[in-house]
Amino acid sequence: MGEHDVVVVGSANADLVVQVERHPAPGETVLGSQPAVHPGGKGANQAVAAARLGARVALLGRVGADGHGRLLRESLERDGVDLGHLRDTAAASGIAMIAVGPRGDNSIIVAPGANARLTEGDVLDAAPLLRSAPVVSLQLEIPLPAVLAAARLARRAVLNLSPAVAVPDELLALCDPLVVNEHEAALLLGAPGEPERQARELLARGPRSVVITLGADGAVVAEDGVVQAVPSPRVAAVDTTGAGDAFTGALAWRLAAGEPLTEAAAFAARVGAAAVRRPGAQDSYPTLAEVEEL
Ligand code: ATP
Repeated sequence: MGEHDVVVVGSANADLVVQVERHPAPGETVLGSQPAVHPGGKGANQAVAAARLGARVALLGRVGADGHGRLLRESLERDGVDLGHLRDTAAASGIAMIAVGPRGDNSIIVAPGANARLTEGDVLDAAPLLRSAPVVSLQLEIPLPAVLAAARLARRAVLNLSPAVAVPDELLALCDPLVVNEHEAALLLGAPGEPERQARELLARGPRSVVITLGADGAVVAEDGVVQAVPSPRVAAVDTTGAGDAFTGALAWRLAAGEPLTEAAAFAARVGAAAVRRPGAQDSYPTLAEVEEL
């Protein structure tokens, strides 16, 4: 047993959030309100979600040697994430500029910055770390060669295929599970459809197992040709930002502990549900005690 339950290879972004009455047209300036900077990025979110539950987590990635990089490091350190493989880079930290409209109609610009500098070489340099962990957790806000190298080294790779981009069959075949939401499933398969059927179709693309998350409806899990529905507890949803990352981080941790996929997904659904009860992404993630109360 290595030092970590989960090694996350992925992104860290500063989320710059403002509320707007309406979104600006090109060339236009509008006044916003409630400016805020939150730690985010799918990799950092997964790492914090798992660590807050009690997992021993390392994050391999890159941030800039700037104020946002310090904010990102501080928030990860608060939850005890091992940052020995988070490198400072001569590029600005990744940024997500998020304008939230009056009906929650967000417009978002993501500039990867330092995240885009993560190389296959960075991942290969950390080969002993990746090989030592029972689960490596991945997403696609970093360059594909780094994701593929990490999946090859992993004893078990969990991949949240988000954002949904085209990936080689080799990467799909290494996923156990491939995790997507309904929109990503539809993009990958070329059309929306009934979730159980989509899970089967995705499984036919080569991954060892598949999880499709369905918001308030929980998730479906497909493995060995069997598809099972996993419910989510009913909660009063306040803000679903980062729910998918909470789900995936929690899933990775339970799989690392040796739980079967369906049980791990049921636990992850409770973590996702707990996370939508509070605003923000990382700020909303529950402790184990909070999940058990649900
Ligand atoms: P996001 O992109 O907002 O981070 P996502 O679209 O990737 O999220 P979802 O399917 O919306 O992922 O949510 C992930 C999990 O969180 C779900 O499987 C579910 O367990 C939980 N969840 C999300 N929304 C709700 C909700 N309204 N009520 C209860 N549980 C929810």
